[in-house]
Amino acid sequence: MGLLSISSLTKKFGGLVALKQFDLTVEKGEILGIIGPNGSGKTTFFNVLTGMFRADEGTVLLDGTSDNLLDRKTHEIIGMGVARTFQNQRPFSNLSVLQNIMVGGHCRGRSGIFSALLRLPGAGRERRRLEKRAMEVMTIFGDRLISMKDRSAWTLSYANRRRLEIARALASDPKLLLLDEPTAGMNPAESLQLLDNIRHINSTGVTVLVIEHDMNFMKQLCGRLVALDYGEKIVEGSYDTVRNHSRVIEAYLGKD
Ligand code: ADP
Ligand code: MG
Repeated sequence: MGLLSISSLTKKFGGLVALKQFDLTVEKGEILGIIGPNGSGKTTFFNVLTGMFRADEGTVLLDGTSDNLLDRKTHEIIGMGVARTFQNQRPFSNLSVLQNIMVGGHCRGRSGIFSALLRLPGAGRERRRLEKRAMEVMTIFGDRLISMKDRSAWTLSYANRRRLEIARALASDPKLLLLDEPTAGMNPAESLQLLDNIRHINSTGVTVLVIEHDMNFMKQLCGRLVALDYGEKIVEGSYDTVRNHSRVIEAYLGKD
């Protein structure tokens, strides 16, 4: 029994099967990579896992519980300890960096991100708790976010927006962190630094699922990889097993 047991997960968009009978077990404490060409269903997998899209079929069990995660709403899933970042980053651009991260903490177990925003209290114990947690998660990135904490989120560089996304997700204190292309917009030095950041997060007990195209990044980060193509799992296993699989080579040569 892993942290996450997924079986027969299927998502259709009209006639298109974006995710097809997907089975996967994620072990507690691992960093598992998900690869596949564009359109292979990687983001869709995160979307159904976090309740943003309703799956057509399947069961997802989290941490030994017997009720299907797919029956839960997004805010409940966050409350159960699953947090994500987005491929197309969307911070609240007029809130400060600190406030963006505080919203991430506030959403845990609450309904709707916008009502959470409206209720974000101006003072009091809850505000101090959220602020303390936000400061804590920012330290993962050295002074990169802390030095920007009072700036509006829209002023951040691409790399800092990616870091903000991760910090916001961590503010909800997840067991499982889902990262969708976290190096997008980062230069090689920043990606290298992100490797260390993610390893550090993992060392604090957070299991990580990461989608990324950069195979060198994945080789260094992930204990195990899963490859998707046309919504189906082609292969899972070690980096070498997956990288050398004929259908993985074919899928990448054919499309990229
Ligand atoms: P990946 O993240 O691997 O690039 P996606 O999961 O975003 O791929 O997309 C998988 C397939 O599902 C693609 O063919 C895409 O066009 C389709 N798709 C994704 N989201 C939607 C949506 N909201 N409506 C219709 N089709 C979608
Ligand atoms: Mg995607």
